[in-house]
Amino acid sequence: MSPHRHHDVLIVGGGNAGISLAAKLRRDRCRDVAVVDPKQTHEYRPLLSWVAGGFATLDDLRRPQADVIPDGVRWYPDRVVAVEPERSLVRLAGGEEITCTDLVICPGSQVDWDAIPGSEAAVATPYASTSYLPEHAPDTWTMLSSLTSGRAVFVISDRHVPCAPVGLKPLFLAADHWRATGVLGDVEIELLVEGDRLVDLDRADRELRAAAEDFGVRVRTATTVESVDASSRTLRVRSAGGSEDLHYDALYLAPPHRAPDWVAESGLDAPGSEGFVAVDPHTLQHVAYPTVWGLGDVATVDALPSGGALRKQVPVVARNIAARRTGKPMRRYDGYSIGPVTTSRTHLLLAEFDRDRRPEPTVAFPDLVRPRRSTFLFDRYVEPQVYWHRLLTGHVS
Ligand SMILES: Cc1cc2nc3c(=O)[nH]c(=O)nc-3n(C[C@H](O)[C@H](O)[C@H](O)COP(=O)(O)OP(=O)(O)OC[C@H]3O[C@@H](n4cnc5c(N)ncnc54)[C@H](O)[C@@H]3O)c2cc1C
Repeated sequence: MSPHRHHDVLIVGGGNAGISLAAKLRRDRCRDVAVVDPKQTHEYRPLLSWVAGGFATLDDLRRPQADVIPDGVRWYPDRVVAVEPERSLVRLAGGEEITCTDLVICPGSQVDWDAIPGSEAAVATPYASTSYLPEHAPDTWTMLSSLTSGRAVFVISDRHVPCAPVGLKPLFLAADHWRATGVLGDVEIELLVEGDRLVDLDRADRELRAAAEDFGVRVRTATTVESVDASSRTLRVRSAGGSEDLHYDALYLAPPHRAPDWVAESGLDAPGSEGFVAVDPHTLQHVAYPTVWGLGDVATVDALPSGGALRKQVPVVARNIAARRTGKPMRRYDGYSIGPVTTSRTHLLLAEFDRDRRPEPTVAFPDLVRPRRSTFLFDRYVEPQVYWHRLLTGHVS
């Protein structure tokens, strides 16, 4: 047997979830916390939508990973390739094995190009792009801002897309740009949404539809893109009315996502979940392995995955790891999530809701579902500072 290290809490993934939890555990006086993540650069991903809308650069959202690892936390800059949950053991790509008392799985999700055949080839051309990958987000704005006529198609999948409503940010930022430059009348805007609404909160959904109407956007819900033909710039689209081909001059995709393969290969996945970690959606404890926890985009929590959701999930996991050991009652996550969506190049609305689509506003006043200039400025300029200085330092409760 190869020699291995042991930690009290081992966290797989040092993104928003993993770093926030590591910092929170340290603040709660957990002495031995380790994080595994191969990336040398940490990204504040919500700014990718702003990059795609011409309001930020990649430099604005990146910091060295070493700078965000909390003091006292051991960082393994390596990739987990397998987990043996019965032994609370993870295996790294470099061959090392690490055991732990509690194991937290939060490697996020990844773009699943195979879910829409032809989509990966399409985003390699200048006529299609996505804000969901940093290597494409700047191209999105180049593509949208240079369009002066023709058809722009925006596609929002509902298959595990992180914070899916923010896929509308590039649409509204571009539409307002087209209006300002006098070409809006020459651009036909199509919005194809796989789900049955634009956001899981009725009033916000109505606000977004009104904003879309104002820009002349044709909104189609319950509509799936089955494939893309990059050479003819054509989408194969299916809805209740049947299938059709749709030509595009510019194509934006918020594409389907999937879990890393090793989650299912390690037996941690929920049946029928396409490989996402099987946790109790209230306690975030694994349904079969009590010392294993799932957190963030990879966990099946029956709620929209988002950074906002992590503000509530992280303290739940931190508390419940301790509760499991002491036998105290566990804390519960109610499915809180958010959708901050620009409705123009000056205004933004913030939808906050629980897993039953009930409103759950953080502040009672003002009404943040109404598009506001102040919320726009907060989301673009203040929220990143909150992320680096409060969320990643474990100031969540
Ligand atoms: C374009 C875009 C815009 C968004 N906008 C918003 C927004 O406005 N508001 C909002 O609340 N949320 C937003 N989100 C969602 C938010 O960013 C995610 O919900 C959040 O980042 C999830 O955190 P996570 O830690 O679960 O996953 P991630 O942030 O993806 O982090 C996962 C980490 O795990 C690491 N990892 C992966 N595989 C392994 C492995 N095998 N071994 C070790 N480490 C591994 C990765 O390197 C990564 O660092 C947006 C997301 C995107 C992509």
